[in-house]
Amino acid sequence: MVIKRIKILDEAIASRIAAGEVVERPSSIVKELVENALDAGADHIEIELEEGGKKSIKITDNGEGIDGDDIAIAFERHATSKIDAYDDLFSVYSFGFRGEALSSIASISRIEMLSKREDALHGTRVLVEGGEIKEIVEAGSPRGTSIRVEDIFYTTPVRRKFLKKDSTEQAHCLDYITRLALCNYQCRITVSANNRSILNIPQAKNISERISLVLGREFIGNALPIDNKRGDHAVKGFISKPHFTKSNTKGMFYYINGRYVRDSFLNHAVMTTYRGMIEARRYPSVVLYLDIPTHDVDVNVHPTKMEVRFKNPREIYSLLVDSMMESLADTGPIAGKDYVIPPPVSRGGREYYTGRIEGAIKRYTLSMDKKRPVISDTLPLFEREDKREERVLFSSFHYLGQITHTYLIFSTPDSMVIIDQHAAHERVRYERLKNLSPTSHEQNQKLLIPEIVELQPANFVLLMDNMSLLQDAGLEVEPYGENTIIIKSVPAFLSGIDLKAFISDATEEFSQTGKTENLEAIKEKIYALMACKGAVKARHKLSEEEVKKLCQDLDSVPFAATCPHGRPLFATFDIGDFERMFKRR
Ligand code: ADP
Ligand code: MG
Repeated sequence: MVIKRIKILDEAIASRIAAGEVVERPSSIVKELVENALDAGADHIEIELEEGGKKSIKITDNGEGIDGDDIAIAFERHATSKIDAYDDLFSVYSFGFRGEALSSIASISRIEMLSKREDALHGTRVLVEGGEIKEIVEAGSPRGTSIRVEDIFYTTPVRRKFLKKDSTEQAHCLDYITRLALCNYQCRITVSANNRSILNIPQAKNISERISLVLGREFIGNALPIDNKRGDHAVKGFISKPHFTKSNTKGMFYYINGRYVRDSFLNHAVMTTYRGMIEARRYPSVVLYLDIPTHDVDVNVHPTKMEVRFKNPREIYSLLVDSMMESLADTGPIAGKDYVIPPPVSRGGREYYTGRIEGAIKRYTLSMDKKRPVISDTLPLFEREDKREERVLFSSFHYLGQITHTYLIFSTPDSMVIIDQHAAHERVRYERLKNLSPTSHEQNQKLLIPEIVELQPANFVLLMDNMSLLQDAGLEVEPYGENTIIIKSVPAFLSGIDLKAFISDATEEFSQTGKTENLEAIKEKIYALMACKGAVKARHKLSEEEVKKLCQDLDSVPFAATCPHGRPLFATFDIGDFERMFKRR
């Protein structure tokens, strides 16, 4: 193998590489160092964190190592062994190529690195403090590199103050490690935190073995394989069946040529496929690996290289949608837990999404022009909504019937009112929950069989941190061994809900709100989630009695025109609207 020496990039090339902040928090350091280890061909990477990575991060790999003569230069800006010329930027398969990670990390911490190449007689140890090399000595070492980064941001105390509590920083690191493990299945990954082993992911035989280890057997058990190729674009992976959904996009993973990317364009393709098969505001889980010739995808648009630009977005989009549709079509009509999902074929296949592709591509191109790859696809559910402030008595409306088992239609002397039954029920439950007093928890229902839920390590940590919130909300829940919790009783109100799904959605809420650290905000979200879980779903037939009860309940809670998630709960069409509709005006 030819040894590529580390060189300082020409200013001309360096200035054309997307630059920006790489070191934001411990997890960004873990990311850069692990990527270096992978670029060095390691198949065992050991990650040791102390205090969530704030005190120290140590990464040990068995990769090719660094030549003793190159070790000092590696810490200089724009020092890299991975590219030579500007054109190389369009054919990179390595993770790194900017030659900036080590220098940025070194400038804000204390580093000790030990490295040895296979053929070298001895290894080399280097100490770097605040960007300055303090010592370089020969040292015994196995093949590979180990690097220990200590006291992150000690040079900039203000930034250090902005780091979150240990468990949050550790969760960020574990999030990154999860994404990494989902792709590099041949690599053994071990993680310890404060000298305790918390993850040991052995080498896997294939990607599905790795996925089931990282995301849980439940996902693989509820997923369909994808394997398709068109021209020189290929996609592989697993996508969840329509009944297996989450409350956010955190179960959606995309890799392009082995690199994890976060990409709203790919999200859009997935959501187009599932639209109509899953409820609004629910998301599938997907792990998709795309292989695209390097000259058809530009990874040099963002400093962390997590966003990309496609040369042929249309091809990628339809390859994805077609492949997923094909797999999903095999499942036929699926009876979900609460409602029946129409089979995907009934939505007209290709024609159905051509319109959406056009829109998505237009926005993609526009946003790319602005160098801001953002695609939003939030269509208002109702074109109009009622803005009147005065109190409406729902039970005074005359009930006419239900449309598509989802919307309730009423007439009043001068208007027609449509209520979204799920949103309405959610609102009622939410208000009740909020007003539960601690003593009303006596109405708790002991579960006949306590529910035991196993969590991913990062989620377990989050849940532990927020346990008291769940207890306040009336759940009797405790830790139960490693990464596992036990739920012994729930408020009567919640009996019958899918507790596993609830806990998994709740942890996602914790991880999202963790940043705000506003207890009330998290509480509100958890209540909204609990309200949603037990509420009547869309596509559910309601009897007249049930409708009457719902209206009375709506009248009894503090009036609000929206559900706890902020969607409108009802819409009004008055005489004027009808007159315009029928061109009488
Ligand atoms: P980049 O990865 O963009 O090249 P870095 O600053 O991350 O830049 O690293 C600089 C150089 O140091 C790399 O190009 C590589 O040659 C060398 N290097 C860093 N980490 C390792 C490692 N774990 N094993 C082998 N070489 C490494
Ligand atoms: Mg690097």
